[in-house]
Amino acid sequence: MNIRKAKSAGYCFGVNKAVNTAYEASENSNEKVYTLGPLIHNVHVTNELKEKGVSIIDNLDDIDEGTVIIRSHGVGKEIYEKIKKKNLKLIDATCPYVKSIQNKVEKYHNKGYTIIIVGDSDHPEVKGVNGWCENKAKVIFTKEEAKNFKTDENVCVVAQTTIIEALFDDITNIIKDNCANVVIFNTICNATSVRQEEASLIASEVEAMVVVGDTHSSNTKKLVEISKSKCDNVFFVETASDLDDAIKKYNNIGLTAGASTPTQLIEEVINTMDNNMVDSFEKNIEESIKEIREGDIVEGEIVMVDHNEVTMNIGYKSDGIVKKADFLYDLMEDLTSKAAKGDKVKVMVMKMNDGTGNVSLSKIKVDELGALDEAKEKFDSKETVKAKITKVVKGGLIVDLGFIKAFMPASYYDVRFIKDFDSLLGKEIECRIVEFDKQKNKIIVSRKILLEEAYKERKAKEKELKEAAIAALEIGKEVEAPIKNITNFGMFIDLNGVDGFIHISDIAWKRVGNINDLYKVGDSVKAIVTELDKDNYKVKLSVKDLTKEPWQEFIENYSVGQTVKATIKNTTNFGAFAEIIPDVEGLIHISQLSHDRVNNVEDAVKTGDEVNVKIIDINKDKRKVSLSIKETMDPPKRKIERNKLYHKEDSNVTLGDIFGDLLKSE
Ligand code: SF4
Repeated sequence: MNIRKAKSAGYCFGVNKAVNTAYEASENSNEKVYTLGPLIHNVHVTNELKEKGVSIIDNLDDIDEGTVIIRSHGVGKEIYEKIKKKNLKLIDATCPYVKSIQNKVEKYHNKGYTIIIVGDSDHPEVKGVNGWCENKAKVIFTKEEAKNFKTDENVCVVAQTTIIEALFDDITNIIKDNCANVVIFNTICNATSVRQEEASLIASEVEAMVVVGDTHSSNTKKLVEISKSKCDNVFFVETASDLDDAIKKYNNIGLTAGASTPTQLIEEVINTMDNNMVDSFEKNIEESIKEIREGDIVEGEIVMVDHNEVTMNIGYKSDGIVKKADFLYDLMEDLTSKAAKGDKVKVMVMKMNDGTGNVSLSKIKVDELGALDEAKEKFDSKETVKAKITKVVKGGLIVDLGFIKAFMPASYYDVRFIKDFDSLLGKEIECRIVEFDKQKNKIIVSRKILLEEAYKERKAKEKELKEAAIAALEIGKEVEAPIKNITNFGMFIDLNGVDGFIHISDIAWKRVGNINDLYKVGDSVKAIVTELDKDNYKVKLSVKDLTKEPWQEFIENYSVGQTVKATIKNTTNFGAFAEIIPDVEGLIHISQLSHDRVNNVEDAVKTGDEVNVKIIDINKDKRKVSLSIKETMDPPKRKIERNKLYHKEDSNVTLGDIFGDLLKSE
């Protein structure tokens, strides 16, 4: 037989407070103690209190001295006045929730509102609340009564704390339709709705439902009503002796109890069902199969989850409860998003009875045991683990490894000094378990060790690459590599981890003023190895040696008398310099620019002009070339005409004809 007991079964907050108050008063008071009406709707409790000297009175007129306890239902204002008038001592055990309703009613009554109490007019709580508006409230308990109520006055609606919420909603909807100005306070006690919802849920999932409580208790009767709407087999019992044999045939039984049912009575009912109602043969088998002890690890199924705890079926006679703190490490997380009905979870039995008849369980203990084993494994294997920094503590950090928490001393975080550890909160890191002591539950992790290892590994890799790179180099070898750095005197290129140096004078055959005019860091450069010291990883290279020296190339390919194309590079007052091939220039003297007289070089050529020139001289010693534009041109036409005149057309003319005047003058 599996008994699923509602967590909300038994005393609510208000009743618990009132009962405790009464027991305390019975022990501490030297005079008679009275409760105005039965403290709760449970004869077992009221009888016990009576034995302890706490009597029930129905009317203050019955006493002239002593202490009066006002029960959790509360009383009307006139009762307080009467107690005062009679000089009686007062212990007010009115439930704070009920007191809040009384305050609202008094406030709105004083404002002139008509007060409507949705509830049972015979219920003491309703009578008490009515006493805070001069007993002028309209008490409505059915939809019919609501339909018949109409007014143009302002209306304030409150609820009896124990009525069913759906009924309150129906009635207030009707009131809203029928009245012009309505203020509604849903004062149904949360304890009541929680109890009713849980009863409804359990009743819908079990074969039979047991409701424990006094037959006069209205909230217990409502639980019976709700249970019957969800389950065909409902047993309403006041005590264990009321249990019917018919319940024997059910294996899956739910149990709830009214707000005024003492825990002791609930336990008795559960124990009776366990011990007496099950056939001994069946019971023996069940006990042998489902015997559990504190410290056992069992697998159970989640049957219910709320924000504070998880209820589990662990195959035992009563359900197991895992409190949120025993289920989650991070209490900021929402339990309902981490556990779901039907989930199978391994838990450790912490207590066979948590005080309410349920077994106290812990998932965290199981997780921790598993986590310690896992941590040991990772410690032994030196595995890298992921962690989240969750807390800064004295001397270091607390990190969450996902399966267990660990400590990281401050000096184990980085190879560098860290000033502000708070800024690391929430950061996800990788680390290694460097110390593990299962007995002391001590797990120390280090991130620094991984950084140091990574650094060493990187350095070893770099060395390997460097050695391979230097081994592959030879003098005269042509390489291509990116520029790492540029200085005034040269530049460094990266030869796969080995620095190669190119002096500024080795960059080009012509003079280089500023390397930055030609290259920038990152550019790829082709060069030839000119010097190599493999032991010390020193490499010198030259870019210019990749090409033949321009002068050498010139004298091998050009000779005097050749006409070539050249580009004017600059002009002076004595001529112009023209480039024949890159880095080889020749001078065109001003007298060689034209057959005509040239006074200004710029009148004949300009920088950038491309011209035909004849090589008229090569001075190999001085590495000088003389060029001529004039030599590439025919002489001026007018001289030819004149020559023709002298030699062809006037062939009969004598020297005297030509030079006669000159001869005469001499
Ligand atoms: S049911 Fe709610 S209002 Fe009523 S006594 Fe209990 S806690 Fe107070």
